[in-house]
Amino acid sequence: MASPHDETEPQEIADFRSEVRAWIAANAPGDPGFKLPQSFLEVESQQQFEYLLAWQQKVYAAGYLGLDWPAEYGGKGRPGLQRIVSQEMGRAGTPFFVNTIGLQWAGPTILHYGTEAQKKRYLEPILSGAEIWCQGFSEPGSGSDLASVTTSAVRSGDDWLVNGHKVWTTLGQQAKWMILLARTDPSVGKYDGLSYFLLPMDAPGVTVQPLVKMSGEGGFNQVIFEDVPMPGDALLGELGQGWQVAMTTLTHERGAAEGSGGGQLGGGSESVRALVALAKGVRRDGAPAAADPVLRDRIADLWIREEALRLGGLRGRVPALCGDRPMALALMNKVVFSELAQEIADVACQLEGPAAQLYVGDPDAPDHAEWPRAYLNSFGMTIGGGTSEIQRNILGERVLGLPKSK
Ligand SMILES: Cc1cc2nc3c(=O)[nH]c(=O)nc-3n(C[C@H](O)[C@H](O)[C@H](O)COP(=O)(O)OP(=O)(O)OC[C@H]3O[C@@H](n4cnc5c(N)ncnc54)[C@H](O)[C@@H]3O)c2cc1C
Repeated sequence: MASPHDETEPQEIADFRSEVRAWIAANAPGDPGFKLPQSFLEVESQQQFEYLLAWQQKVYAAGYLGLDWPAEYGGKGRPGLQRIVSQEMGRAGTPFFVNTIGLQWAGPTILHYGTEAQKKRYLEPILSGAEIWCQGFSEPGSGSDLASVTTSAVRSGDDWLVNGHKVWTTLGQQAKWMILLARTDPSVGKYDGLSYFLLPMDAPGVTVQPLVKMSGEGGFNQVIFEDVPMPGDALLGELGQGWQVAMTTLTHERGAAEGSGGGQLGGGSESVRALVALAKGVRRDGAPAAADPVLRDRIADLWIREEALRLGGLRGRVPALCGDRPMALALMNKVVFSELAQEIADVACQLEGPAAQLYVGDPDAPDHAEWPRAYLNSFGMTIGGGTSEIQRNILGERVLGLPKSK
């Protein structure tokens, strides 16, 4: 099976890749001896959080995080190289970076819209992991229809007062900051009345309540705001520009499938590889399951689609190949990546057969039930950041020019 980096690379990149690979081999953390979350979306215990944070801090201290960000904000000013680190970490199966929302959603948005003071204040602690971020977009009545959010931010002198209710807030328990989409003017159209803020989670009046997922894991929260004071300079971008700023965040979120470091069974070439290993190990009617032509066909199909996704990702880095709608690739990647991850986990569970029904904590569960857990968690990937239906609507309307869905 092709490796994600076996095409001819410029010598400089190949050298950097070798350097990173050697560093990972010498520094990758060992088995923690407790269950790790499969992605940053499922971090539930302090123990997991600290283990993952220590890894992010170690990578940053070694100079392998923030490669694409400007040096004056804590980065390395070496655009294009973070991708190499991500690929190598995915290959090695190292843990992911726990501050993913800071690194991939909030950070790039602050880089784009932030004042000089905001960039200087917020960006370096995102890289170092000193300050964890969460995202306050969804509400009990506003998910797919994000522009209908009702959480309000009202002027109070030079400051703001926030009231409302956010939900599905990943990392809300650990976060020091929230990127917040709030209504600042209910008298204008729903898109124009929104603004985007950087809210301190330790402000008085913020209540974080944990929620449990169908996988049995935590990581989700709801966050309630009761007269929460927020400083005047918490506004990111212009007043009333919140929708545009939020779309920038979502474009990064939807296109960021490969950038969060390593990780386990989250889809991508490493998951297809793990599936192949499983198929070779499992026996059916006295022969390796991998000898079954129907199964081989299914796995080959998954591999081809994963490879197409990888090549699409490469294409996305060449503006001349993206046409006049660069966001189309990010949207397509999100749909394909998340649905592929679901299918990979589905085939793995079929391979494990009835044993796939044994779940985490059962001593007889194969591989500590990593595949059934990946299967349950994979549904979150087709929902978070905009559901597959919504992504298809956007692709249909804005890329293919089809009539609006309603
Ligand atoms: C793992 C995970 C992590 C998340 N983390 C965060 C987070 O950190 N911060 C945050 O703010 N949010 C987060 N979310 C919330 C996520 O953004 C929303 O769940 C998502 O946008 C869908 O909104 P909803 O759950 O309200 O579903 P709804 O909008 O109620 O949708 C229900 C169903 O109806 C379909 N549907 C709705 N409208 C249409 C339409 N116009 N056309 C066709 N189908 C439609 C949807 O596709 C879906 O199947 C997370 C979600 C998940 C699963």
